[in-house]
This record gives sequence, structure tokens and C-alpha cells, in this order.
Amino acid sequence: MKVPYPKHHFVKTGHIPRCQVCNSSKLHIILDLGHQPLCDTLLTKEMLNGPEKTYPLRMIWCSHCTGVQIDYCVDGKEVYHPDYPYRSGISKPLADYQRQICLSLIEKYGLNSKDLAIDIGSNDGTLLSGFKREGIRILGVEPTNIAKYANAHGIRTIQSFFDIKASQKIKKKYGPAAVITTTNVFAHMQTIGEVIMGIYNLLEDDGVFISETHYLLNVIQGGQFDTIYHEHLRTYSLRSLIALFAPYDFTVTDVERGDRYGGNIRVHVTKGRGRRVSPRVAKLLKEERAAGLDKLATYGKFARRVKKARLEFMDFLIKTKKSGKSIVGKSCPGRASTLLNYYGVDTEYIPYLAELPTSLKLGMYLPGKHIPVVNEKILLKEQPDYVVLLSWHYAEVIMKRLKAAGLKSDFVIPLPDLRIVKNSRVKRA
Ligand SMILES: [Zn+2]
Repeated sequence: MKVPYPKHHFVKTGHIPRCQVCNSSKLHIILDLGHQPLCDTLLTKEMLNGPEKTYPLRMIWCSHCTGVQIDYCVDGKEVYHPDYPYRSGISKPLADYQRQICLSLIEKYGLNSKDLAIDIGSNDGTLLSGFKREGIRILGVEPTNIAKYANAHGIRTIQSFFDIKASQKIKKKYGPAAVITTTNVFAHMQTIGEVIMGIYNLLEDDGVFISETHYLLNVIQGGQFDTIYHEHLRTYSLRSLIALFAPYDFTVTDVERGDRYGGNIRVHVTKGRGRRVSPRVAKLLKEERAAGLDKLATYGKFARRVKKARLEFMDFLIKTKKSGKSIVGKSCPGRASTLLNYYGVDTEYIPYLAELPTSLKLGMYLPGKHIPVVNEKILLKEQPDYVVLLSWHYAEVIMKRLKAAGLKSDFVIPLPDLRIVKNSRVKRA
């Protein structure tokens, strides 16, 4: 069957031999993280009695479009199982941040109550609630059971994967959209061409698609190898995003950077070719070149830093355990799974990962290493010598909050370079 997009924009399950973005064969292995389980498939106690699936996890760089990707794709239906645990409204800073995105889009594009805003991969509807509050018509599209939660909380949501067929159904029922957003999902999708063409079908003639994902420049400069996991099929540079949209009737018209997920990029992609482009686009492309994102040597340097951080962390961990001191983990984001599985850290090193009392992961076990996830109240009761921050990209906020709650432990920040922060050095909240 002829599809209205380049064939390589349908990433097949299994090994990926060519660039997912530009189809080039100029791929280079930057880091081999071994075979790893899916980072968000946490295990129940019963599941510990059975076998566990793992898949190759390698960080690959394309020297043609400068995008980073992994070279094994796990079937999306397996990754986004109905009980996929992530719920964005769970953290207040993220909810506030997403509200801010809505307000800026409403202003920039002059949206009003006649306009329809659609969020793809809408999760619990946190982003859309920002549009709803301002009187914009909204619709979420979300494949997991979180869609039910969103609907129950007044965010109109269709529980479905998004493809060309879904876009036609939606357009028939709700009309075209003025704006379509995806936050933290566009790097995840196997069906890139289906999604882009679906968005194209659904948008009004002057409509704009806004996509926010974690950003390669932050990953490389920040030593954030732990953002590489099976859900993140691609880690985009701006140059690779422009290459991605080049075969379509779209123009990348604007770009912004933000600090969520340890540093992100938000591109504005307007329907139609040859649109006016903000000078911010050329400026950021220049910054990418200055940072060496187009040079293999940059990635070699990155890999050496990652390997050094691993050695230093393991050295510290072993010394701490030998001296009889206690060390535990705080938070269980997806990236914790990559880090602990690559390092080889199990319950003999770190007996538990402490999470917020509202976390959907409580009572479950980290994939691969089977470290239990427990309520963070235990930290105050046990007062361990060291707490490793696995959400280290939010280290300052977490350290302040835990200290204010009465925690006396010192903190271990694993990346980009190992850092031990004495409790006495943490500033009061
Ligand atoms: Zn490429």
C-alpha cells in the first residue's frame, strides 16, 4: 500500500539499521548500554517469580542529520501498556509549566473560543486544562488507561493511538484544529509519518503544530546518558528536526528552549512551505555547530565522561558499603532504570528507591535490578547516611524539600560528574 510519507518514517519493531529521521546509513555507536528491560514496565511482586524481557539499548548518532537515536525499537503496544504508570499532573511544577505553555501559545497565535486545541499523547490532560481554563475548545488523544482518568476529570479525551485514520475520524466529528501539541511524546513514536500526516490532515490551513521533546544539546553538554531508554527512540537536535519535516508540506517556523526533562526544545511547525521563519531558528543552529553537535569527536568526549562518572559512582558506592554506611535511592523516573541497569546496581548496593506518597510506582520493583519502590516517609524514619538522587536534574529542589522535612542525610548526585553534597551545605528552602 502506498503511504503519503517516506517509508523510513514508519519505524519497524526490531533492529533499526538506518537513520530514523533521514534514512542515512552514516550511523555511529556512541554508547552501548547493554540489553535492558523497558524502564516503565515496573514489576509486581508476583512478576519477580517469572522471566523478564530485555532489549538492546545503544546510543547511536547520525552524522548526516546530527540526530541521536537507539537502534532497536520495541513495539509501542508493549511499551505503552494499559497500565503505563506516568501521570503528568502528579508534579505541580510540571502542571504549572504546562499552563504557561498554553498561555504563551494563546497569545502568540491569537487563539479564541472558536479554536480547537488538540494534544496528542495527552496523558491526564494537564496541558489541555490550561487551554480549557482560557475558554479554548480542547480534545486529548491518549492510548493508555490514563484517558479514563482525564475524561473523569472533565478533559475530553479519545483513548486511541494517533494515526491518519484517527485524524480523519477526529476531523469529521470535531472539525479542524488551530493548534496541535505534543509534549514529551514526539521522540517516542514509531509511526512518525502517520503522526505527521495525521497532524497535517487535522490542522487548519494556517494551523501550527508545537512539539516539545528533550534536547540533544542538553543531553550532550549535561552528560545525560540516562535519558537514553527504549521509549526515547530519537533525541533531536534542531538540525535533525528540520530534516525530519523536510519531506512534508510544513515549515519549522520557530524554536524555544526550556528546562523541563533536564533541558528541552520546543519547535513550532506551520502548515505550508516557505513560511516566515523566526531568527531564533538560525541562531540555535549556529549554537549547535559551535557546540560540535555535527562532529563525531564531540560524542566520543561525551562517552568518555559517562564512563568516568560510572566508575566514580561505583567506586564511591563500594567504599560506602564496605565502611558499613547506609546508602539508598530517591525517585524512580525512567532514567533511573537506565542508570542503575547500566551501572549494575541491585538491592545489595541500594536497598530501595523512595518515591512521593502519590507515586503510581509504590509497591513495585525497578525493572532489571528489582529494587523496591517505597514511600519516601521511610527516609525520615531511617535517616540513611547517603541518599542518591536519581532525578538528579531536579537535585536542588529535592534536596531543599527533604532537608526542610527533617532529613539529615548527605546527598549523592550521580551525573554529569559524581558530586557529594553535605546536608549542611543545602540551603534552606
Ligand atoms: Zn539522520
